[in-house]
Amino acid sequence: MGKILYLDEKESFGIEIEESKINAIYHMCKESFPKETGGIIIGKYSSNLNRAEVKIVTGAPVDSKCGRTWFHRGTKGLQELLDEAWDKKGMYYLGEWHYHPGGTPSPSIHDIVEMNKISKNNAYHCPEPILLIAVGSPINNWTLGAFIFTANKKQITLKQQNE
Ligand SMILES: [Zn+2]
Repeated sequence: MGKILYLDEKESFGIEIEESKINAIYHMCKESFPKETGGIIIGKYSSNLNRAEVKIVTGAPVDSKCGRTWFHRGTKGLQELLDEAWDKKGMYYLGEWHYHPGGTPSPSIHDIVEMNKISKNNAYHCPEPILLIAVGSPINNWTLGAFIFTANKKQITLKQQNE
């Protein structure tokens, strides 16, 4: 399976994610429909730091809570997972993914607040977290939006590149 690349307008920064990982996200969304769900994304940056490579997508931790228009990601088990990813593969926290059933692939006001909090939270070691947003339903097409929240509170939308 191939990799999908998302780039910002200036093509100065990109997110690379394997198609199989995107399909894994869509699968978790289908299971959760019509409720929201989400998880974290783990991977690494390229050596020149201009590309994030997403290698692991997790499901919602068991202490997460969700409804049709909201999702609170839990934390149970994540630290152990991140420790293991770091020890075995040198990978680390890159950001979050969300499912917005029937919504648009754009961050909600609440998402923006949360991502800016993560950016400032030293526990995450991630000043510029990524948010991937899956949109669709079991009977509709699926799409994935990609966003980066910069340390100065700017939100950058990345576009999927043609294969
Ligand atoms: Zn969201």
